[in-house]
Amino acid sequence: MQTKRSPIVTILGHVDHGKTSILDTLRKSRVQLGEAGGITQSIGASSLKTKSASITFIDTPGHAAFREMRSRGARIADIALLVVAADDGVKPQTKEALDYIQKSGSKLIVVFNKIDLPSANVQKAMGELEELGVLFEGRGGDIPYVETSVKEGRGFKDLLEIIELVADVEGFEGDSEGELKATVIETNKDKRGLTVSAVIQNGSLKIGDQIAVGSMKTKIRGLFDEQNKPIREAGPSDPVLILGFSELPQIGQTIVSVDKADPIQEGSQIKKISKEVLENELGLVIKAASAGCLEAILAGLPEKTVVLNSGVGAVTESDIFFAKTSGAIILTFELKLTSSARKLSETEEVPVFEFDIIYDLFQKVEELIQKKQTEVKAEAKVLAMFPFNKLTVAGCKVKSGEIRKGDRIIAKRDEKEIGQGRIISLKRGKEDLEIAKAGEECGIIFKPQFDFIVGDVILSVNLPE
Ligand code: GDP
Repeated sequence: MQTKRSPIVTILGHVDHGKTSILDTLRKSRVQLGEAGGITQSIGASSLKTKSASITFIDTPGHAAFREMRSRGARIADIALLVVAADDGVKPQTKEALDYIQKSGSKLIVVFNKIDLPSANVQKAMGELEELGVLFEGRGGDIPYVETSVKEGRGFKDLLEIIELVADVEGFEGDSEGELKATVIETNKDKRGLTVSAVIQNGSLKIGDQIAVGSMKTKIRGLFDEQNKPIREAGPSDPVLILGFSELPQIGQTIVSVDKADPIQEGSQIKKISKEVLENELGLVIKAASAGCLEAILAGLPEKTVVLNSGVGAVTESDIFFAKTSGAIILTFELKLTSSARKLSETEEVPVFEFDIIYDLFQKVEELIQKKQTEVKAEAKVLAMFPFNKLTVAGCKVKSGEIRKGDRIIAKRDEKEIGQGRIISLKRGKEDLEIAKAGEECGIIFKPQFDFIVGDVILSVNLPE
């Protein structure tokens, strides 16, 4: 039977606008309301019991690289609080968050924070949001808003009232005996083993239940509430921490009962590869130390990349053989390659790049894509070298295509790049040329000069800007 359940709320907004402070203030107010336990280490969500209701808050990470997690936060949520610092107004991540909220269908409440600051200007921040199509209550629209100051503890009663009001109007419902649907919001490892935090959207979880996430099946060995207290059962809107997983699922994956598990994936841990890698695309196998990081990497990869396989945990032999047969490169994050994996990758000539900083990983990917996208227009071979003023002219024969004055070039020796530059002069004898065609000989001066030798290959290329 469908019954009323607590609203699931997420807090989004630009960095430093006060998301964490607002959540902390709300969590502290629970302590003030006399609930036992105090503030414990968050399991990724917390539930706040006000005098008349209960609200489940999801703590979504604020860093820009964790875009995907944030967007999932918004998608699990019934209500999204968009925090905008009144002294700073709409910023890039405010727009990004608003976009997610609108796409996710969560109910929007705008929180203008830091109203204690002398430079706070709520009207200005409102105007900026109105330009983005957010029409406020009392100003021609129906989006509720509230003004808060964490510093002065103002506006929080109003905020809770507005959340309860929206929840009442929307009437969020769940069925504790219905079909299980819970969403993974955080994964971790502690002395109890692998821990998976989730918020239940429908149905219930009990110790001993058989559950499934993707292809993974698990029997629940332990259940804890958001204060890390052991519980036997949890129902709609409850945040829980689950023990029993032998492998970590990904953030945002859905937990269902085993009888509802996807039959195609049953019994198989290996993802089916149906993706095709085009000529100018980069095939990737990505392994990371945790699901959260993997999630952030997958969310931040640029276009022209195709992830053929990804997972949490060390690079295995089968990852290397798979990368070899699919022509992919392997990227690892916060992981050390075992010496046997390193040896195998070397003998199988599979490139493996290891990273501890997400930004470095993205930079490398961009670099590799650029290399892939370099289009070769013409090829020439260096047959002779002669001095000219203080420079060296490369006497070349064009093998294919047309070489033009001004072309960007890459020089290679034994397939390896030895320099890049431009053709600043193209000559035949004393005559200046604009073009040298296949089969023709010409003298080339490069800028910058580099140490080429007879036998080097000059590629005239279109490099992506
Ligand atoms: P987040 O990045 O959005 O989670 O922002 P934080 O909660 O970490 O807050 C960023 C900074 O703003 C911190 O130094 C807070 O102390 C400060 N801050 C948060 N709320 C307020 C407020 O209402 N007034 C003032 N003056 N400072 C605030």
